[in-house]
Amino acid sequence: MLKIAIIGFGNLGQSLAKTFADLGHMVLAHSRCDHSKMAQDLGISYFSDPQDLCEQNPQVILLCTSIISTESVLRSLPLLRLKHDTLFVDMIPVKEFSKALLLKLLPSYLDVLCTNPMFGVERGKHEWNGMFFVYEKVRIGSDGVGISFCDNFLNMFEKEGCRMVEVSCSEQDKYVAGSQFITHTVGRVLGMLTLESTPINTKGYETLLDLADNTARDSFDLYYELFMYNKNAFEMFERLDLAFDTLKKQLFGYLHDVVGKQVFDNAEKVQMGHEEYKVSNPSHNGASSESSSKDMRSHKIAQVSNRKAQISDHFDDNSRLKIAIVGFGNFGQFLAKTIIRQGHIVLAYSRSDYYDVAQKLGVIYFSDVEELCKEHPEVILFCTSILSTEKVVRSFPVQRLMRNTLFVDVLSVKEFPKNLFLQKLPLNFDILCTHPMFGPESGKNGWEALPFVYDKVRVGSDESRVSLCDRFLDIFALEGCRMVEMSCAEHDRHAAGSQFLTHTIGRVLEKLGLESTPIFTNGYKTLLNLVENTVGDSFDLYYGLFMYNVNAMDQLNRLGMAFDSLEEQFLGRLHGILHKQHSENASKTLLPNHPRMQLH
Ligand code: NAP
Repeated sequence: MLKIAIIGFGNLGQSLAKTFADLGHMVLAHSRCDHSKMAQDLGISYFSDPQDLCEQNPQVILLCTSIISTESVLRSLPLLRLKHDTLFVDMIPVKEFSKALLLKLLPSYLDVLCTNPMFGVERGKHEWNGMFFVYEKVRIGSDGVGISFCDNFLNMFEKEGCRMVEVSCSEQDKYVAGSQFITHTVGRVLGMLTLESTPINTKGYETLLDLADNTARDSFDLYYELFMYNKNAFEMFERLDLAFDTLKKQLFGYLHDVVGKQVFDNAEKVQMGHEEYKVSNPSHNGASSESSSKDMRSHKIAQVSNRKAQISDHFDDNSRLKIAIVGFGNFGQFLAKTIIRQGHIVLAYSRSDYYDVAQKLGVIYFSDVEELCKEHPEVILFCTSILSTEKVVRSFPVQRLMRNTLFVDVLSVKEFPKNLFLQKLPLNFDILCTHPMFGPESGKNGWEALPFVYDKVRVGSDESRVSLCDRFLDIFALEGCRMVEMSCAEHDRHAAGSQFLTHTIGRVLEKLGLESTPIFTNGYKTLLNLVENTVGDSFDLYYGLFMYNVNAMDQLNRLGMAFDSLEEQFLGRLHGILHKQHSENASKTLLPNHPRMQLH
């Protein structure tokens, strides 16, 4: 058992004191303010005078002081009263700085261990299992006593399940300081937005909430110190600012393109008319293209008869649904895999040719939407981008479908497709608006407990129509999704805002090119996961969330303002420090000459 003196009895000091005492060590504490009551509650001896503390001959002195105060605290300690081989341990998150400071101020007979527990007070909640504990044995005496103090101290964390990593302080700074600073910055910006949990949080949004929550508990002092004592912090802050600006420019460029296209729409229509004329007059195409078009046609005929054979194979089994996916991009293919696995028949149609991909998945692919409809699928599942859905629905050959076909969409916004379907689809078709609140990345290990939101917008009362809708929903229920029936309006109120924010943060971070490091905090891992979750989504999807969310512009502005206000807080501090230095210098130089000063 060790006798450990904790100096700096703030959040971290108190939390460690409690844990050490629980593990049976003798714990003493000292701090600038009077924490004797708290110490008493924890069953720990508290010393307001560092002289008295040192006279107790602690074997380990653990510095839980802020970065800024550590130097003055060390200078105030009566080091001569300490026994040889007393082990000094620090837990300051900027390691090169603390190592240099300890080596400069401590006599050579005192040992030095620089550590960085990669968990905070609240976050760890004393559960250190699996968390990184990084350290460098900077100066440990060669006799048995010093070595045993150091080993015993480290063993405490190892026994509690920490992942012990021994690396130099400079390596630690390279891996840790940067990632910690960026994590705190994002957490603080989010904190300023006062995010609220919704009943249908995506994994990504949960991530943001956790991050904001975790960083809110740390003081601004800690964050400021990470900024001041990390050589790269300013550059990182600038890069984050730049990434945000670049993303905004990308959005506005896209916006400009879309509006521009609308402006020049008429000109395009004239051009298109001309192209159509060329296609309908083969004499314009030349002999070689004629033969290749013949080849293409026979290839297509072969494909169609091949598909028909596949469909008739499936026809016998009435329990299966025949689902046509319209829009066979990223998300359409992702859904198809599970639907196929459950034994349903999946047909697909898209703007691009996905024949090979479809074949690999066991999906029957149509490059002609009329052909697809002639197969009379029971469900038409729209997986098109938000932006293109209106165009695709408008030109959809509904007349080729059977009565009572069920139209479903999975768009990430809901009021828009609901209104579109209600306007465009004849009354004999049913409408189910859904939003699986997960994607190919967040749902790659299964859909268990992930929210699936749906609104039965218009489902006929016949038993067969009700059953068709329920059988479709069962696909998701069977996978263990958390089925949430909610109106489209309510969905948009809860989700549209949070999703846009999640994607924006994910995209800004992606632009920073964050890299995984061998040692990381949970917060940083969270950021990396967020990037991973959003980076695979198309810019169209992000742009759709921007365009079809009335509050998106406002959210973007609030995010910008939160970031600016953080910058101003830094500026205020730096200005304050410089101002203080100036006035101190000025009073020093004034002192000998100023007549009033001389009088005193
Ligand atoms: P997306 O970029 O939103 O949509 C891609 C799909 O839209 C492709 O099938 C694409 O067809 C089609 N498309 C795009 N522009 C088109 C146009 N002008 N004309 C016809 N079709 C067009 O990416 P996604 O991730 O696959 O998302 C599909 C839908 O699912 C979106 O509405 C999205 O909001 C929703 N959703 C996505 C996720 C997710 O995590 N990804 C989660 C829930 C819901 P081609 O590939 O043939 O060009």
